[in-house]
Amino acid sequence: MTYKTLSPNKKIAMVAHDHRKDDLVNWALRNRDAFIGHELLATGTTGKLIEERLNLPVRKLLSGPLGGDQQIGALIAQGEIDVLIFFWDPMEAQPHDPDVKALLRIGIVWNIPMACDVATADFLISSPHMQGNYKVALTDYDEYKNRTF
Ligand code: PGA
Repeated sequence: MTYKTLSPNKKIAMVAHDHRKDDLVNWALRNRDAFIGHELLATGTTGKLIEERLNLPVRKLLSGPLGGDQQIGALIAQGEIDVLIFFWDPMEAQPHDPDVKALLRIGIVWNIPMACDVATADFLISSPHMQGNYKVALTDYDEYKNRTF
């Protein structure tokens, strides 16, 4: 097992499908103070909404169906995201459903704290780990990387 230490200044990525955007904006407004000192990034439309409604800077990636979820996945794999708030829609298929599955999967690969509903997001944002250092345990993939054929 290897470890990576997250500093108190976390990089928080946010994604919300269209029918979950209200949930995310309301959750974010309620927790606005908890974002101070952290860096926010999001898929395009979600980021624009959060920036406008919270009046906080958000690094905006592409819109989800245009590749934004994949950009977030790539940043996770590069170690550039610490926390993922991902309000996906459980009631409607998305044009980019494969990207949704891929993002959830890569989050698990890298042991990213992920919240997909309001209650989990509340637990996550109020965790003492958000404000302090946190040692993330990373699965050792050496055996996988060194496999021979
Ligand atoms: P959006 O993308 O923030 O650009 O709407 C979110 C998504 O559908 O993955």
